[in-house]
Order: sequence, then C-alpha cells, then structure tokens
Amino acid sequence: MNNVTSFSIDHTKLLPGVYVSRKDDADGCIITTFDIRIKHPNTEPPIEISAIHTLEHLIAVYLRSEKSGIADKVIYVGPMGCRTGMYIIFKGDMTSADVLPYIIKAFEYTRDFEGDVPAATPSQCGNYLDHNLTFAKYEAKKYLNETLYVIKEENMTYPL
Ligand SMILES: [Zn+2]
Repeated sequence: MNNVTSFSIDHTKLLPGVYVSRKDDADGCIITTFDIRIKHPNTEPPIEISAIHTLEHLIAVYLRSEKSGIADKVIYVGPMGCRTGMYIIFKGDMTSADVLPYIIKAFEYTRDFEGDVPAATPSQCGNYLDHNLTFAKYEAKKYLNETLYVIKEENMTYPL
C-alpha cells in the first residue's frame, strides 16, 4: 500500500484545493489524477452523502459533455470515500493550473443547475433516490467562493 501517494500526505495540513495526486504511465501515455479537495479533512464536516453523490453525477456529466472543452481527456470522475473531495483523472501530463478553468466551469455548472439530476433513474444509477441537489449546489457555491475563485499556491501544492 506504500505506493498510494495520498496516504503519505498529512491530511490535517491539507487545505481545500486542486492537487496533483499522482501521475501514471499507462503504456506510454501519462495520465494525471487530481485531488479535488473540497473540505479541510478532519477539521470541518465532510460532504453529506447524498450531496456528494449528486456532485458526482453533475461534475461527470458536465466534464464528459462537449461544452466542457476537455471531454476527450476525461478518464474518471468519482467521490472520495472520506467525502472530503473527488478524484478526477485526465489523459496527459497536467498541472493544477492547466485544469483549474475546467474545474471552475464544472462547479459553476453544478451551482447553477436546475431540473432533474442527470442519470438519477433506477436503470442508470445504483442508488437513484439518494441525491440532494440543494446541498450539492450549496457545496459547489461554497467551494467556488472560498477556494477556487481565490486559489493560492498553497491550495495547489501538497503540504510537506
Ligand atoms: Zn449515482
């Protein structure tokens, strides 16, 4: 398990931000895993389960849509089990600054979303009743205002 980079980070010092979690060589193609850290771990409450589920649906749908401008590079979008953030994996050797504009647009899409949560149906989702759009929008707005719109170097570089 010692090759899981994020386990070696002191999570008590980890601020909300956008971090490169790891880079992997997938048969000659570099893929970059981003730590989209929405909450300060072990310091503030994690994201409510139904809210992070809705965030997963909306962020994934947006990033995989043509309007995101980066759909062809998205490999994976998913919530962290600790519910303090999400992992997003892109093709390519990327930095936090490279993906920040796309992450901002995805959270703005979530903040402003109205209507039915995409793919929240029994045939498309494993727990389709467990969504909370109101709380997902609240979390997206808070992350934008308190972290993404005012991001500093310390929110893009893992603490030593
Ligand atoms: Zn689902």
